[in-house]
Parts: sequence; C-alpha cells; structure tokens
Amino acid sequence: MKKVNQILIVGGGTAGWLTAAFLAKHLASQRDYGIQIRLVESPEIGIIGVGEGSFPSIRGTLAAIGIDEARFIRECHATFKQGIRFDHWVRPPQSAGSQHYFHPFSQPSQRTGTPELLPYWLHGAAGKGIPFAQAVSMQKFIADHGRGPKRASDSDYLGPMNYAYHFDAGRFATLLAEHAKSLGVKHLLGNVDQVQLHEDGGIRSVHTKEQGALQADLYIDCTGFRARLIGETLQSDFKSVSDVLFVDRALAVQVPYATPQTAIPSYTISSAHEAGWTWDIGLQNRRGIGYVYSSRHSSDERAEQILRQYVGSATAEIQPRKLELKLGYRPQAWIKNCVAVGLSGGFLEPLESSGVGLIETAAYLLAYLFPFDGEFEASAKHFNHLMSQRYDRIVDFIKLHYCLSQRQDSAFWRDNTDATSIPTSLIEKLAMWRSRPPSRLDFITDLEMYPPSSWQYVLYGMEYATQLHPSALDTNKLVLVQQEFQNIANFSQRALSDLPEHRALVEYYCQKGQNTTNSKKTFSYGRVMA
Ligand code: FAD
Repeated sequence: MKKVNQILIVGGGTAGWLTAAFLAKHLASQRDYGIQIRLVESPEIGIIGVGEGSFPSIRGTLAAIGIDEARFIRECHATFKQGIRFDHWVRPPQSAGSQHYFHPFSQPSQRTGTPELLPYWLHGAAGKGIPFAQAVSMQKFIADHGRGPKRASDSDYLGPMNYAYHFDAGRFATLLAEHAKSLGVKHLLGNVDQVQLHEDGGIRSVHTKEQGALQADLYIDCTGFRARLIGETLQSDFKSVSDVLFVDRALAVQVPYATPQTAIPSYTISSAHEAGWTWDIGLQNRRGIGYVYSSRHSSDERAEQILRQYVGSATAEIQPRKLELKLGYRPQAWIKNCVAVGLSGGFLEPLESSGVGLIETAAYLLAYLFPFDGEFEASAKHFNHLMSQRYDRIVDFIKLHYCLSQRQDSAFWRDNTDATSIPTSLIEKLAMWRSRPPSRLDFITDLEMYPPSSWQYVLYGMEYATQLHPSALDTNKLVLVQQEFQNIANFSQRALSDLPEHRALVEYYCQKGQNTTNSKKTFSYGRVMA
C-alpha cells in the first residue's frame, strides 16, 4: 500500500475550504512527514453561495480550526442564531390557535435535585397554554425580546445560551480559504475536465487545462451538486429521498434593511406556505430570504408570487435566483481513494441547516479515520456507514416538521401528512411517543445531528399529543417542579438586563480587534441595554 502523502481537494466552496482547514489543522504535525494538501477549484464555476444558517456545532469547528469569533463575525457579516421560529407549520394562517412555535438551541433546564421537566409540562404543571420551549428554557423569551445569547465579557464561542450564527456564505468561503492557506494548504485554479483511473478503479490523476495533470494519493470531491469525481467518474449511486421530502426548487433573494439600525432577529424565521416554506435570515446589512417549494405542487410563477408577497414591496426591483435541488445522499460517499464532502455527497432541504453541519461531520470523520497507510477499505466502510445513518436520521427529523401538521389546505400538506410518505423508522418513534415523551435512550447520539431536545421542541411545537400515564410522574415533586417553572420565568426576566440587544452585540464583535480603543472595557451597549 502506498502511504497517503498527497491530498487533493477538488472544489473551493464551503465544503472544500472547511475540509482543507480542518485537515491542515489536524494533520499539522504530519507536514514534517511530507503530507501536503492542495485545493484546486474551477475559475469558471462559482460556488453555490447560499447556506446562511448554521447549527451550534459550527462554534466548535471554528474554534478547532483556529478562527477567532470576532474575525468570523466581522468578515462574514454574521449575526447570532438562537434557534428557529416556525410560523404556520401547525395550521394555516388565520385559523384559530397558535401560529408559531420556537425551536431553541439551549437544552431544557434541569437543575441538580429536580426531575426532568418534560413529563410535568405534559401534565400541565407549567400552566395552561404555556408552550414547551417557553416553559423549560429562557431562550425563547430572550430571543423574543431581541437579546443576544451572550455578553461581551463572555469568552470566544461561549455564552449562557447555546447558539449558532447566520452568515454570508460567499464571505464564509473566502475567510475559510484565507485561513486554510495560512495553515499551509496550496491553492490552484483549474477546471477538472478529465479523470484517469487506476486498474483497481481508484483515481490515478485529474486533468485540468490550467494546471495539466494533478496526481494525489487521496482525492476529496467538493465539487458541489456536479459531483465531478464521485458521481460523474465513479458513478456512486444517489439515494433520492423525494418520496419523503417533496421540495425540489428554491428561489432566493437578498433584501436590504430599511435603515442601518433595523433590529435583527437572533433566529431564523421559517414560514410554511401552500407548497413549501420560506427562510428569512437577518445578516448585519441585509436579509437573506428564500422560498423552498415542491415543483410537483406549485408552478415556478406561483412560487415567485408567494415569495414576493412574503417580502413585500422591497422585492419589486429584485430578480430571485432560482435553484434546482436534488434531495438525497450517496450511501457510498467514499469509494477507493475518493471521498465526497458537501453537496457532492448529499443534500437535504435546509430547514434545520444540516448542510454545513454535515460538512463538519464529514471533515471530522475523515480526519479521525485518516488512512495514513493507504489502506482505504475499512475507513471507507465505516465512514459510509456513519454518514448514511446520519442522513437517514436527519430525514426523519425534517419529516417530523411536516407530518404532524394539521394543515390540509393544499395538496402539498395533504401529501406530507399521508402516512405512506412517512419513513417506518419515524412512524415507530411516533408510536412510542404516544404514551411517553422522547428521551435520550431513543437515540444513538453519535449518529444524530440533532439532540433529543431538538426532537422534543419540534414534537411539542407541532402539538403532538403524548398521553402520559400518571405513574410516570412523582406527585411528591409537583411543588418543586412548579417552583422550577416559576424560576425559569423569573430568570428570563432578569436575563433581559444582563444580555445585550442583538444588533449591539454584533456591532461590539465587529469593532472588537479592529480598533484597540473599542475594547471590551470601553464598549457601551448604549441605546440598547434594558
Ligand atoms: P459549492 O459551493 O457548489 O462549491 C463547489 C466548488 O466546486 C466550486 O468551487 C466550484 O468551482 C468547484 N467545481 C465544480 N466543478 C469543478 C470542476 N470540474 N473542476 C474544479 N472545480 C470544480 N446549508 C446550511 O448549513 N444552512 C443553510 O441554511 C443552507 N441553506 C441552503 C439553501 C439552499 C437553497 C441550498 C441549495 C443549499 C443550502 N445549504 C445550507 C447547503 C450549503 O449551501 C452547502 O452545503 C454548502 O454551501 C457547501 O457547498 P459545496 O462546497 O459542497 O458546493
């Protein structure tokens, strides 16, 4: 077996550069042993440039590759994301009942000596009509009141609330590129137009007219939906999930704020519509808005109408960008000496920002399973198993948002709630949760992207009815638990004076490090502190 010394990443979007930076950091000491990482990207094909919402795992990844938080926020026009607000997912607009629910990133509170609050919330101990997310965590209240998840005095990537970010995808790829190059990754411009194979079916070299033939021991395909190596060349099967998740088109626009002081929500707003849903993401200087819809349930013209109605007059001059989506993944994302990371390996709709999270997982796994000795087979098998399992579980989690809807006002919703479109694995989970709530033991956490609390927030946000057996509660603890619900409400109020207004927190981070006079000590939240 030939040792792996030369790594060639093909593609320079988020997947390519994040993998490059992660491997460069992880293999730093290996450079002395001759391991070299090169990244070649086409000068003709742009990056996809969407993907502005993230999951809290991104903080650990940025810290691991060595980018400081202020630089990331400043250069990527980033804002904080504390969760997602889902509007009109349970029932259509104008119908009686709650019109939105919140999926916060912070776990339900559980203090030492108090039992898990969820069963007691199901029992009604938090008070009538108090949503689960509000009863068990301060985060919804904090986000509703326009506060950020942390204080200026908190260390990089840490804060009292769990959080992720919204960011400009193009700027993120640029930052990652600069950083990866500073870690020793060599950057080449070249369009891969031919691929030569070894006799065993692995890749021998790729050819570009700009750089000629490029040879490596390990190739990482980050060519986006094109999947130039793993798909076009190695013909790895694509497992479509379009029978479960129906959306296959997106229209995206960027909308400027009315004024530079416009408040920025620290959460994504996801609104359900007749044939899909819109994302609404607030960056520092603009909103990113998109309508993701099913072409089986809507014409493109009708979709554009929905998007324009949602945005209002601000879109009059803006032409939406149209994207075709292929939902699914490659169960064999690693074949011989070629591994696919990013859109080339798979894509699920961006409802819960799984795209970048899956890139993080793949980069982490690849670094961990790195086949130094050139023995690919066992690592590839393990990688493919773990990634496939993860995709399947994300499909279940996303379907959970649709299949519990009470909406029957369009074919899209009727089809989405039809039992034949729900995977058996999800049906089985829902059956168990009829008589008890989801718990840690329902999940193999290393295979899940979303923690049990995310499942709980969505399940009860969608108003799922769990008929808890009375024996599941310790009635002696009712008073203690009611006190705990009250404490959470009280602490939420107090947090308003402790946490800064969101835009002010973002501005603090933009100034931090730019100008030393604007240090932590001298910065004032000014207009924004409660
Ligand atoms: P790309 O950005 O497409 O990069 C491909 C690269 O390959 C480019 O550099 C190109 O030049 C290069 N290339 C292609 N062919 C060749 C060739 N022959 N030779 C050399 N180079 C080549 N993810 C999230 O986490 N959160 C979100 O909110 C989110 N929203 C999304 C919304 C939509 C509508 C879509 C479509 C995706 C969304 N995603 C989201 C997913 C996210 O955008 C991607 O996971 C992420 O941008 C990674 O893309 P990539 O690097 O795999 O591909």
